[in-house]
Amino acid sequence: MFENLSDKLDRAFKVLKGQGSITEINVAETMKEIRKALLDADVNYKTAKTFTDDVRQKALGENVLTSISPGQLLTKLMNDELTELMGGTTADLDLKASPTIILIAGLNGAGKTTFTGKLANYLKTQKGKKPLLVADDIYRPAAIDQLQVLGQQIGVPVYANLESKDPVAIAREGIALAKQNGQNVVIIDTAGRLAIDEAMMVEIEQVKAAVQPHEILFVVDSMTGQDAVNTAKVFNDRLDFTGVVLTKLDGDTRGGAALSIKSVVNKPIKFIGTGEKMEALDVFHPDRMASRILGMGDVVSLVERAQQQFDEKEAAELQKKIRKNKFDFNDFYSQIQQIKKMGNMKDLMGMIPGVGKMMKDVEVSDDAFKGIEAIINSMTPKEKENPDLINPSRRTRIAKGSGTDIQEVNRLMKQFDDMRKVMKQMSNPAAMASMMRRMP
Ligand code: GDP
Repeated sequence: MFENLSDKLDRAFKVLKGQGSITEINVAETMKEIRKALLDADVNYKTAKTFTDDVRQKALGENVLTSISPGQLLTKLMNDELTELMGGTTADLDLKASPTIILIAGLNGAGKTTFTGKLANYLKTQKGKKPLLVADDIYRPAAIDQLQVLGQQIGVPVYANLESKDPVAIAREGIALAKQNGQNVVIIDTAGRLAIDEAMMVEIEQVKAAVQPHEILFVVDSMTGQDAVNTAKVFNDRLDFTGVVLTKLDGDTRGGAALSIKSVVNKPIKFIGTGEKMEALDVFHPDRMASRILGMGDVVSLVERAQQQFDEKEAAELQKKIRKNKFDFNDFYSQIQQIKKMGNMKDLMGMIPGVGKMMKDVEVSDDAFKGIEAIINSMTPKEKENPDLINPSRRTRIAKGSGTDIQEVNRLMKQFDDMRKVMKQMSNPAAMASMMRRMP
């Protein structure tokens, strides 16, 4: 996410690094580089210009503060200004009404239906809500199927009416059904088009007028750069939406849409999509995104992701097992599944300060655990529970069964053993204390 932009900004800052103070000349030069970096990231021209003019003025104005270096001062200014550019503060959904009605709009392929599923999943698992999804696309039966499949996957009911050709009526029926069944959020997935289209706009306007949604979320593909911003403008003029959802930020997006949309439509980005899985949805925090763009990582989000996957009861069980030295391959396997649920590996690494930049050109595959999983899957239940059983002949069998080789199995066994040793030590306070004392 934003690696190219981060890289270029970093280079722009170099102009100031090592300089004793901020001068008109070095700031002008740095701003030129920063503006170029923003334009390369597909930020719209006016936004980039206003942005650099603001930063320049502030940098010159604050020059009296000689206690910090020009590089540090500029990083702080950039962080503040980027945060402001992306909306300043986090914009929460308005979920007070019961049922809360949320209308989802956007062009085909933007990721509307996927987002509808992700949002329902988020509201159910993170906010304790009971959502109902409404399939309100009367043109594409495949879209209805897609929503039903997602609904099943996340355990959220979907209302569809294949007989009807009236989107307003379908939306109303969905809301009535939700009220009847005590569902407190209704998410309506509307029909899109390949491009802006008058009939589509009229249709969504009619649905909006009929159901009076509390939130209208405009979903847009961040990979489309400036087109995303232009489409947002047209939708906002017609629908006056309440928030933007930027999808596909996990891809090769240059980031321009995230940086320009707020200043063009003056509506907050509320969520970002970072993958195809139902869990790949993040609440958008302008400050955290700014520090990621500046290569400063985002530890807060990383910890939150970990907490979301963390089941206290399971963790307590695990601790008990570790204490009794009973940690086995079943536990190891389920730990891997939890890490995988936290999201795309490269994305996760990018949240660790300094690591994002380092990993820029390294391919991090989400299949990183495939070999380990295959090896564990080739073990018998007895072997998984009792790893000490796994002797050389069993290792050969496991390597064959998993399509790996004996070295890989040996490596995993060694790692597992080391891990168990460390875990055992950590669960014994006396041993832990002695280990700490030995540390340099
Ligand atoms: P719709 O036509 O707007 O309903 O779009 P869909 O929800 O069908 O999404 C179009 C394609 O984009 C599908 O292949 C999705 O899996 C994919 N997609 C949606 N959101 C994301 C995302 O955040 N990241 C990635 N990588 N793919 C996404």
